[in-house]
Amino acid sequence: MPALGSVLAGSLHSVNHPAMRIYRTPQAMQRAARQWQREDSRIGFVPTMGYLHAGHLSLVEAARKRVGPKGRVVVSIYVNPTQFAPHEDLSTYPRDLPRDLQLCRDAQVDAVFFPTDAVMYPGRESGDYSTYVAEELVSQGLEGVSRPTHFRGVTTIVAKLFNCVLPDVAVFGAKDWQQAAVIRRMSINLNFPVKVIVAPTHRESDGLAMSSRNVYLSPTERPEATVLWRSILWCRRRVKEAGEVPATILSGEVRRLVETESRGRLDYAAFFDGVSLRPVERVTSGTHMALAVFLGKVRLIDNGRL
Ligand code: AMP
Repeated sequence: MPALGSVLAGSLHSVNHPAMRIYRTPQAMQRAARQWQREDSRIGFVPTMGYLHAGHLSLVEAARKRVGPKGRVVVSIYVNPTQFAPHEDLSTYPRDLPRDLQLCRDAQVDAVFFPTDAVMYPGRESGDYSTYVAEELVSQGLEGVSRPTHFRGVTTIVAKLFNCVLPDVAVFGAKDWQQAAVIRRMSINLNFPVKVIVAPTHRESDGLAMSSRNVYLSPTERPEATVLWRSILWCRRRVKEAGEVPATILSGEVRRLVETESRGRLDYAAFFDGVSLRPVERVTSGTHMALAVFLGKVRLIDNGRL
């Protein structure tokens, strides 16, 4: 039985809000956003690449909480080509639009922005798209080492999406900790009038962080994928017991754990300050940890505070 509060919130929502809208061009999205601004509705935004799971839906819920029943929640679904390197999985990235739209409807999303490459990057195929946004500090370490062109693609698309959706609040997942830090930095540096919120990582019952890419895992790889979460728990316990552990020792231990307890290969394990993302030499309680593991054809990432 749903609580009375949520029933009332649901009916209030359906009275005030027409059916979920789908916008396919920046112009149509901006027109709707400007209309909502005139109506004094706050706009909450959740950018995604689709193939939605409960982690994405928890961001939708966080956005709704921020903007209230009268606000508008927009989800974008766009597999952004500029954040994939040529050897990465752009062409095989999982997609299921009908299912995504139904999940958004069920989650009382007001609008989905689902643009094409042609409208987001006009002229890119012929070499005629030439404007990018780059954050040059927070984006350099961690994922930025393994994927040197990734964050330029992310900041470019998020800046463009902000210009289309005109959000008051944008919600990102802690699952991509560095991404959230890069976006926050970009928003401050470029004066976007957007409050950047980071919502907790949603996990499967065995600790695996939910990710659209988890569908790539074979039935034998799937249980092994918990090795990322187990590595975080291992480090948490080590730090609790020892008080302080050198980062080099701990990353060696993580490598051994990953490579003995799974067929995965550790890309990196890093220990850093959770706000500045600066690496630390001595890991203590409160230090943030991130790691990336190749398992079969899949590259998985996770992070957590120790
Ligand atoms: P993606 O579709 O993978 O680009 O992710 C879109 C947004 O959802 C990003 O802000 C991610 O950090 C967030 N996200 C992805 N997986 C999770 C998760 N398991 N828990 C919380 N947020 C997530």
